[in-house]
Amino acid sequence: MKISRVGNRGILFTFMELEKSFDCVTNVYVINGRKNFIVCDTYLGPYYMREVKEYLETNYGKKDYIIFNSHSHWDHIWGNSEFRNSIIVSHKICRDFIADYGIEELASHATEFAKEDIDIVLPNITFESKITFNDEGVEFFYSPGHSEDSASCYDLIDNVLFVGDNVDNPIPSYMCWNNLDKYKDTLDKYNSIGANIIVQSHGDIMDNKIIRSNIDYIVKLKANENMNFKEEDVLKKHIYNLEYLNSCTTT
Ligand SMILES: [Zn+2]
Repeated sequence: MKISRVGNRGILFTFMELEKSFDCVTNVYVINGRKNFIVCDTYLGPYYMREVKEYLETNYGKKDYIIFNSHSHWDHIWGNSEFRNSIIVSHKICRDFIADYGIEELASHATEFAKEDIDIVLPNITFESKITFNDEGVEFFYSPGHSEDSASCYDLIDNVLFVGDNVDNPIPSYMCWNNLDKYKDTLDKYNSIGANIIVQSHGDIMDNKIIRSNIDYIVKLKANENMNFKEEDVLKKHIYNLEYLNSCTTT
């Protein structure tokens, strides 16, 4: 695990366990709020979340926790059980998806990635459009794209935007939803927010330019434009996306 500071009150915990199989790191982003630690995503289970908690409480003292699930995918929610008595917020569809597919996804990936028995714990507060924690200066809002249930966390005080899996460098990866119009709407909204710092789930801290490059890609996809990528890893992402989108039109 690597720990880095982001803005004035952000702490980024970067984990490497997915690197071998998926070629990417995974981030848990924490806002050190006034009365709460706001934790964006809970990674691969309580084992990792205990490390995060220990670091936070040693360095900043005890606070309550507000947990946010950016979407329902297994690598973002397995640590929810460590916070079962705290507020766990997600979009309504995200909660539904965890309820419907959480156990199934756990069964497929536990052998490789679970350090311990994982208890799937559902979010206990959901929203449709957005929910704001005014005292903390933090807003969670619906931002479908990577998946239908994706949402984002905006730190209004630090002007930092946590985008989950919706943004990747230099193009979106592992697309799981074929509504490209809505995906573009989400990226346009990110652009209009004009955050100083973009925090993505599976890569480095970026500035706002990364949004533009992700929008350009979606626009070209929508237009069925041929794209060439020289870097092998980017080409791989692109081919995965194309295969996924093709599978949606043929089934
Ligand atoms: Zn995902």
